[in-house]
Amino acid sequence: MHLLSQFSEYFSPHLTGFKQMNTPTTRSIDLDRIETWTKYRKTLCTTCQASCCRLPVEVWTEDLIRMELIDPFEKNDPPKQIAKKLRKAGIIDHFNYKNAIFFLARRANDDCLYLDETTRRCTIYDKRPQTCRNHPQIGPRAGYCAYQQQD
Ligand code: SF4
Repeated sequence: MHLLSQFSEYFSPHLTGFKQMNTPTTRSIDLDRIETWTKYRKTLCTTCQASCCRLPVEVWTEDLIRMELIDPFEKNDPPKQIAKKLRKAGIIDHFNYKNAIFFLARRANDDCLYLDETTRRCTIYDKRPQTCRNHPQIGPRAGYCAYQQQD
């Protein structure tokens, strides 16, 4: 899920469009520097401030259907056309034309559009994109995450 463009292209087949992120100031962890990430263990998620939901999220057409952002019958529509519609609706902020990959929009603080700002939980958890489901097993540093403890 969410790094610098050249960084992600080098490290992850699932994160090809990272943009520059703000550097967190509250913790020593640096989302842009995977060497500062923490080895993942299940219990981390309960005290984390959802830092993984501040990373760019790649989304495919199948995800968009599950997320009910497009109808199943739109599956074969040109991705460029879908991207135009979703960008206009503020749901994606980037589209990779070459690989037909969409990137979910993020707020000014880099939070994912679907992250609840108060609870720091995903508001579409059951329908969340495959990229989110795969994290951190697949991502910039497999088996590690950008854990940041809640205040
Ligand atoms: S879709 Fe949900 S799990 Fe995925 S980054 Fe956004 S808030 Fe997090």
